[in-house]
Amino acid sequence: MTTYNIAILAGDGIGPEVMKEAVKIMALVDKRNENINFELNTALFGATAYFATGKSFPEETKTVCDNADTILKGTIGLSHEDSKKIPLDEQPERGALLPLRRRYNTYANFRPIYLPKSLSHFSPLKGSIIGDGIDIMLIRELVGGLYFGHKETGVDKNGKRFVKEVLEYDEDQIRQIIKVAFEVSMKRKKIMHNIHKSNVLESSMLWNEIVEEEKQNYPEVEVINILVDAAATYLCLKPTMFDVMVMENMFGDILSDQGGGILGSLGLMPSACKGSEKSYYEPSHGSAPDIAGQGIANPYSMIGSVALMLEMSFGMEKEAKNIWIAMQRVFENGFSTLDLSKQGEANLVSTAEFGDLVCAELVKLPL
Ligand code: NAD
Repeated sequence: MTTYNIAILAGDGIGPEVMKEAVKIMALVDKRNENINFELNTALFGATAYFATGKSFPEETKTVCDNADTILKGTIGLSHEDSKKIPLDEQPERGALLPLRRRYNTYANFRPIYLPKSLSHFSPLKGSIIGDGIDIMLIRELVGGLYFGHKETGVDKNGKRFVKEVLEYDEDQIRQIIKVAFEVSMKRKKIMHNIHKSNVLESSMLWNEIVEEEKQNYPEVEVINILVDAAATYLCLKPTMFDVMVMENMFGDILSDQGGGILGSLGLMPSACKGSEKSYYEPSHGSAPDIAGQGIANPYSMIGSVALMLEMSFGMEKEAKNIWIAMQRVFENGFSTLDLSKQGEANLVSTAEFGDLVCAELVKLPL
């Protein structure tokens, strides 16, 4: 019997609601497989942690995460207005999320943008644009660039307020994420879209140089260079042209949310954040304060993050695949949460009901 120690950080807003469903699925996977045991250790994280302890990433939580094999994170963050109740340094992103990423150097963020043809009605795009379905692996550098660079604010000698934020990458940082993207491309269609902004940013020029250098090691992969602004348009007009996309931190933050948009909801965006030693898994979306506490959030991205964890951290590929199949079947049977339902449609389910339906499909699938 192998025991996996998993840190559970439910977080803020809809985090605890969707995490409850993820835990439900994990309990079922655990029950059905006598060779494994999931040991779940919950800890406070984000605004919830700040209000309880004065720190958004408290020492106890760091210990739980340090001791865990891997980390499953819900969502963090407050509404724009409520954020002002917390000092800047302890606000959930600055005080918890970025330090979590830095602590475990989770440099590779995998954000699948996936919608099979059978579910194309969820998308705001026309069926003719979606074709046989959308299947993109967006790979985002997660611990460098503008989000992690030096920051300064103040008043200049003319009495004007100023702000300065530094976008920094060294070649090793770029190379490690580019290598990941080439490796993933080799396992998929061997086409990699390199997203950059080298017509303006020197960071993109270095980025592209490294892509060129690494390409020598992967001659079978076709590299297509595309400016980030054009990529945003193509994601809407021709999403099926993409297979693997690789990009720096901020570009990935923005384009992956657009990915949620073309699928029909951010609730369809799970993610994996891989470090060399430890990884964590989280929905790509935020804490959705506008719908928190109503039991209507879509738990697909949270449950999908469990599937990514099983596959990428524990090598449980079959169990992971079963979770994807079970969720797809729930949708194909006509059920959906509010974010994906069209007006007047039947079979609208709550967060908890969606989790139950996934469990019911899961038990039908052989191990
Ligand atoms: P958001 O992603 O929380 O929500 C954007 C929209 O998508 C909202 O209308 C929301 O209701 C909807 N949505 C998101 N997830 C959903 C789900 N599972 N089911 C149904 N609908 C869903 O973005 P926001 O409102 O701009 O940010 C809210 C907070 O989340 C902010 O504090 C932000 O900083 C934080 N945030 C955290 C993360 C993270 O934890 N990695 C990521 C993004 C934003």
